Amino acid sequence: MSDFCPQRFKKIFPLLCLSESEGKPLIYFDNAATTQKPQNVIDATSNYYLNCNANVHRSSHQLSRSATALFEKSRVDAQRFINASSEQEIVWTKGTTEAINIVAQCYGSVFLSKDDEILLSHSEHHANIVPWQEVAKRTGAKIRVLPLTSDGKIDTDNLSTYISPKTAIVACTLISNTVGKVNDINGIVKAARNVGAKILVDAAQAVAHIKIDVQSLDCDFLVYSGHKMFGPTGIGVLFGKRELLMKMPPYQFGGEMIKNVSFSGTTYGELPFKFESGTPNISAVLGLSAAIKFVEEYREQFVQYERALTEYCFKQLNQIPNLTLLFTDIPDIPVFSFIIDEHHNQDIASFLDTNNIAVRAGHHCAMPLMEYLSLDGCIRVSLAPYNTRAEVDSLINVLNQYLTQEL
Ligand code: PLP
Repeated sequence: MSDFCPQRFKKIFPLLCLSESEGKPLIYFDNAATTQKPQNVIDATSNYYLNCNANVHRSSHQLSRSATALFEKSRVDAQRFINASSEQEIVWTKGTTEAINIVAQCYGSVFLSKDDEILLSHSEHHANIVPWQEVAKRTGAKIRVLPLTSDGKIDTDNLSTYISPKTAIVACTLISNTVGKVNDINGIVKAARNVGAKILVDAAQAVAHIKIDVQSLDCDFLVYSGHKMFGPTGIGVLFGKRELLMKMPPYQFGGEMIKNVSFSGTTYGELPFKFESGTPNISAVLGLSAAIKFVEEYREQFVQYERALTEYCFKQLNQIPNLTLLFTDIPDIPVFSFIIDEHHNQDIASFLDTNNIAVRAGHHCAMPLMEYLSLDGCIRVSLAPYNTRAEVDSLINVLNQYLTQEL
């Protein structure tokens, strides 16, 4: 049995401690939007500005060499984190959205044509839909959409109906930001491989919860954002198989991504620098490296606790009268989306907010999923290992208060 202590864990997060010391403890249940940041991530970010602020890769002085060493060491951490076979396969991006745009623009728009199909699912975040719509517009390729099962997972029972030799790329989320179920990506990868399609995995919601191994998954691209796994905003990772990244043209052009520039012609740099034009977000890269170490240190410890908390929250929410969870079985990670009959999502969220409980109401950047479920939105409660049963009890009490006050 794990001896993980959420109260002790919470103490590593200054913002949560501050709210407690001010006598207004924040119950932060919006972790799928972004997680709070632990002290080591904040320290790593500020340490860069305090102790080794210099540009990377270009200057010929000691400070720049130190910054470059930390920056490139972070890439090795990111490589280890998902078991990529080389650090050349790790491209720093602003986040998941930019990473998907790079693949869409530099692979999709270049290599797809009008007879090709792009396969998505109904549970994708807009970040994994809209870039593909642009590819479809530019190339004439057609978008097809995988249905969901009654428990909210991508339906893999009839993959052969959707995956055919026409399928050029399958882009699916490992875990949706609204459903909280782990999709059968292995099954999807296998089916994609059988027809020679490429596969992109959106791991934005997965990285804080489950261990990822891109080599055993055998995906072509995998993307995530640092800020959803206790890291800084403005930094993310595009993993791409080396041979594909080699084939793809650069995303943006300028300094850092070149080998040689001349008015008679320019040659581009090696991987991964070819995709990293301009001065990167150095402090955020160092912060992400700290977040990776943080997750690697704690994940084994909190996984059991998180499971028990998920079960508890699921049971408690089910006891609220007229509350309907979008899908009836227990999610794999603590993300719960629901509506309450005859009550506006925003009104409920505002009432929770006045009681210091942070949740999100709306379409969660998943309008097609809302359309699929014939909803105009829902409330999402998303937990992290610093959340406790007592906080879940507070949520339930405040929801009950809201409902009795309204009746
Ligand atoms: N994909 C999923 C599943 C997400 O949950 C999110 C953010 O909520 C994104 C993509 C976009 O991430 P970002 O806004 O960090 O680029």
